[in-house]
Amino acid sequence: MKIGLSRFIIYAAAGCLAAQGGAVNLPAHRPAGVLQRFSYADVSLSGGPLGAQARFARRFYLAIPDDNLLNGFRLRAGMPAPGRPMGGWYDPNNFAGGCAFGQYLSSLARDYANTGDTRFKEKVARLVHGFHETIAPDGFFFMSVKISTNWPCYTYDKNCTGMRDAYALTGDKEALVVLKTMTDWAFKHLPRRKDEWYTLPENLYDCYALTRDKRYLEMAREYDYRAQYYDVFANGTNAFTPDRHAYSHVNSLCSAAKAYEVTGDEKYFRAISNAWEFLTGTQMYASGGWGPNERFVPVGQGKLAASLVFDQTRWHFRTRSGDYANNFETPCGTYANANLDRYLLHFTGDAKYGDNLERVLFNGILAALPMRPDGRTFYYSDYHPGAHKQYFPSRWPCCSGTYAEVTADYPLDIYFHDDGGLYVNLFTPSRVRWQHGGKIVTLEQTTEFPMSDTTAFVLHLKRAAHYALHVRVPEWAAKPATVLLNHRPVDVAAVPGSFLKISRDWRDGDTVAVTFPMSLRFEPIDAQTPNLAALMYGPLMLVALADGAVNFHADESRPERWIHLRDKVSLTFQADDGRLFRPFYLIQKERYTTYCDFSVTGENHENKN
Ligand SMILES: [Zn+2]
Repeated sequence: MKIGLSRFIIYAAAGCLAAQGGAVNLPAHRPAGVLQRFSYADVSLSGGPLGAQARFARRFYLAIPDDNLLNGFRLRAGMPAPGRPMGGWYDPNNFAGGCAFGQYLSSLARDYANTGDTRFKEKVARLVHGFHETIAPDGFFFMSVKISTNWPCYTYDKNCTGMRDAYALTGDKEALVVLKTMTDWAFKHLPRRKDEWYTLPENLYDCYALTRDKRYLEMAREYDYRAQYYDVFANGTNAFTPDRHAYSHVNSLCSAAKAYEVTGDEKYFRAISNAWEFLTGTQMYASGGWGPNERFVPVGQGKLAASLVFDQTRWHFRTRSGDYANNFETPCGTYANANLDRYLLHFTGDAKYGDNLERVLFNGILAALPMRPDGRTFYYSDYHPGAHKQYFPSRWPCCSGTYAEVTADYPLDIYFHDDGGLYVNLFTPSRVRWQHGGKIVTLEQTTEFPMSDTTAFVLHLKRAAHYALHVRVPEWAAKPATVLLNHRPVDVAAVPGSFLKISRDWRDGDTVAVTFPMSLRFEPIDAQTPNLAALMYGPLMLVALADGAVNFHADESRPERWIHLRDKVSLTFQADDGRLFRPFYLIQKERYTTYCDFSVTGENHENKN
């Protein structure tokens, strides 16, 4: 049986707060959201690059031996500890022993909710039980004293996610006992201002919805980042300052989003919508990534461009195969960004959040090298000239936890609905099951996207029904989208940056095909450095195959005149001077340059327009 309770969690939270009253300031109006989310069970991915990555991740995390995951916890509890230490960050004596346990657990629960495959549910049950056995009589649950000192909030937060999902998505009652036991300890001992404390409320609100335990509400308020951070954004000021850790501060915006969802306080909404504008407008690379050296850049100083210059004195890493620059903490950053985009799409129905979600999925997490069985993880995307993709020196880092979560969440990113219609947000082979007016409507999407600019839908329904089908028309669409309904052209408003709408009486077997013309364009890295630009094709960031700087003396406003598609299967493009470009997400071992320089003039690189 598939269980999908994500919406239950969200709306139960709002309802419970109303019933309890007084626990937090509750206005009369709480936001219903413009677009509603589907549960994990409603959507299945059937192929395409996102589907392939999600399938890989499911198999990968399912295969990690339970005994290895529990080894360090059992050793700390003085129990027999079969299996092997995982090593890396997961090692009890290392940087953050066992910090990702809750994220692995959470993703397995989400995978069960999505696939109904009982192997995930059984593994969740074994891990919850095994972890429960290691909790000390006083409720101490960390793998080591060291991690309870260094990363107490981070670890409690991730474990909350794991136990919440184990209970809500697989029905594991023991997970609820573990959640309570951990919280008994945390309520008394967890420092209120330590490590990434400001990401906690998102989970705490959900935990309250599940347990009705008021301590979660109290903690959600104590960990609220409002005065120092959300209020700054809400007042229209950029709070992305370089002293702040990038990933966790974007993730913290999801706590503000949850606070808005639960309390209805508009100030939280203003905070996240303003923050989103600052993030996309002042911090982002063409990939949708941000946060070089895990920090925000000061605005208006050309610091994004400066971050491409390889600087040995900063946080660059040395590996066996060479140094690399840490431009974007890719799995963690994608997780936080996608989650924020999803909240904003839900609250507003504005297609620009769908555009951004697409950008950061296709150029962020999809560009990550696959997890390796020994725990090696793709952590940083490197955008400096002549870079190549590398694994992080330490095994099982934070990004091994978010890699599991962000890929398990793909089912939530593709479709949305409202009372009157179904919304298609992402173009990827998949199927959604929508309950509309007591009837079941199934939509099946087939597409070769992004190798093709067309996506097609078939609708299955027992009896004819009236509703609207909405499809996101991406901002990058070069010309208005064209739409075929049952193979005949139809005239609908298909403005880039909006959802097109086809409203009619739908019958079983009706088909729709939408084509969004994709084209080339260069996007400058920042306003101060307009001559340094990345080549885009639709939502995809293309990189030049190069082992150093790439200069062009050509018209960057008309790349279609001097860069041409050479191979449709690999989306390889070639400039008139012979230089090849490929999508960043398809790069494996090749050296590449993300930003091309148009400031250098000279005979050697001249391209005739
Ligand atoms: Zn990370």
